[in-house]
Amino acid sequence: HYKMDKPILPFFSMISARYEVMRDIWVSAEGDSVDLEIYYHKGHEYNLDRMMRSMKKSFDYFSTHYSPYQYDQMRIMEFPRYSSFAQSFANTVPFSEGIGFNLKIEEDDVDMAYYVTAHELAHQWWAHQVTEARVQGNAMLSETMSQYSALMVMKQEYSPEMMQKFLKHELDRYLRGRRSETLQERPLDLVEGQGYIHYRKGSVIMYAFQDYISEDSVNAALKRFIADYAYQENPYVTSNMLVNYFREVTPDSLQYIIDDMFENITLFENKAKTVNFKKVSDDKFELNLTYEAKKLRADSLGNTSEIEMQDWVDIGVFGKPTDGEKDRLIYLQKHKITAGETTIQILLDEEPVKAGIDPINKLIDRNPDDNVKSANEMVDS
Ligand SMILES: [Zn+2]
Repeated sequence: HYKMDKPILPFFSMISARYEVMRDIWVSAEGDSVDLEIYYHKGHEYNLDRMMRSMKKSFDYFSTHYSPYQYDQMRIMEFPRYSSFAQSFANTVPFSEGIGFNLKIEEDDVDMAYYVTAHELAHQWWAHQVTEARVQGNAMLSETMSQYSALMVMKQEYSPEMMQKFLKHELDRYLRGRRSETLQERPLDLVEGQGYIHYRKGSVIMYAFQDYISEDSVNAALKRFIADYAYQENPYVTSNMLVNYFREVTPDSLQYIIDDMFENITLFENKAKTVNFKKVSDDKFELNLTYEAKKLRADSLGNTSEIEMQDWVDIGVFGKPTDGEKDRLIYLQKHKITAGETTIQILLDEEPVKAGIDPINKLIDRNPDDNVKSANEMVDS
């Protein structure tokens, strides 16, 4: 006979092994302490510090921006790589050795142990506080919001290049996933158990969404949503309820991105065509960028049609690499972009190396690799 002190989903796990335990304590802003434990197989100590650090950083972020954590403890338990997943139960996360404990993480790698830990802890809010109805779009509330939460925790710790590497990987997986869809692709708000949408597209969309309307605005909507619907049973929440909260924090000029990102399948074909520059004085460079832009809508069977484009899209210029930064942006600004070919001129304080449209792949672009091109110096003859 087992009784919890707080209501939980009828969803639990039983795990048994000869474990070592790493223990720590996380203290909330209100001064409540939560026992943190990682149960691991002796010898698998490699990434425990990363996971423990991620637990603390995740709780800091989620309890500040969403709502207080609801239990007195949080436990991660290792299991063998018969399967490669982790899953979030109330205050308990079974976690495969293959995606955390035994993973070799090099300096240039995305820290999977850190990311998976943050994602699973986010489910303590997105599933265990706000519980979604079992209808189309349910995984946008649980999985996409956990992806967003993990991304925001990672963003505080890792360089923009590392975030870009992660998001590029997510974009590639979404594009691959939709190519091999055998039934029907759904917009994010009507996703039906399609991981390439609720995880992969979800990451790209939510990262872009907070870039457009600000992280604070997204979090303000999420905080209100949790305050209004945590532990609500009848009716359970649906994705369109959350989309309405997003609409409330989005300015009129950007309401179109909600149609594009959440309610439709929107694709771009943006491309840098020519990038030329000339030195106009000792410390001024004039850059001429010609780009091509196209916006498309896809139906559930993948048929696309071009739609009007009046969109705010990043134009970016990279400078010479310095020690720490390989891809160093010296200019990044949103321009109002229309479809077709356009040439723009940008005056820079230093020599450009490459430039393009949507240079760090915030949008769902069917060919993300042609967005940036090397810059040629034009010499007057
Ligand atoms: Zn998940």
